[in-house]
Amino acid sequence: MRASLSVLVAMALFAGPVKADPFKPGFKQQVELGQKAAAQIRNEEKIVKESDPRVQLMRKVAQKLTAHIPENEIKKHPYKWSFDLVDSKEVNAFALPGGPIFFYTGLFEKFSTVDELAAVLGHEMTHIREEHWANAYADQQKRNLGITAVLMIIRANQDMVNIASISNEVLLSLPYSRGQESKADRSGFRLMVDAGYNPKGMLDLFDTLAKAGGGGGTPEFLRTHPADKSRKNEAQKLIDAESKKGTKFPATTPMPKF
Ligand SMILES: [Zn+2]
Repeated sequence: MRASLSVLVAMALFAGPVKADPFKPGFKQQVELGQKAAAQIRNEEKIVKESDPRVQLMRKVAQKLTAHIPENEIKKHPYKWSFDLVDSKEVNAFALPGGPIFFYTGLFEKFSTVDELAAVLGHEMTHIREEHWANAYADQQKRNLGITAVLMIIRANQDMVNIASISNEVLLSLPYSRGQESKADRSGFRLMVDAGYNPKGMLDLFDTLAKAGGGGGTPEFLRTHPADKSRKNEAQKLIDAESKKGTKFPATTPMPKF
């Protein structure tokens, strides 16, 4: 059902002069929504101060990763990156549209290598770069409306995005598809390797997450990012393919003691 709807919508999009998906918030709107939600989170949560060495390490790693995002992509999508650390036991990290990324100390403290940190950052950055939230939002709107209404709207060339009506709740709770998650792993891997991190950090991350989930109560990050065998196998395949190309990975870097 979902596939046939997508096909119909795609056909309608290609048939007429309409180019953009009328249900998908544009990049500027994504930035606006992301900034608004980030401001609220900074008001409500205990944010670790900028001078903290953990925040500085996170931002240093993030900067090394963003330095490898192609110039032409940035021209099209001028990201407003920000990297905040929330003082909370919650084992979580998430991205908001347009650039804000929030990390929880509960997850940060579990890393044994800097490469694991780079793996999560690269993954979350991909959700932003690929506009995963905006695409998930557009899909949800279309599913709610049904095919007939969606096609009428597309034919009428109506813009259906009203960002004032999009709550922070919708911004934070919309689930990503399995396909989006595996794309985030693949592009995150690329970014890590290009920035000089050891992609073994991805495998270690899955082990760290699985361990974190062992002692009762599933961490938030695991609920949205199952550290199952297939995800780990996919990461291993990426590493093997890259090694076959002759890429040499640097040693993993142990996390400093804070
Ligand atoms: Zn994800």
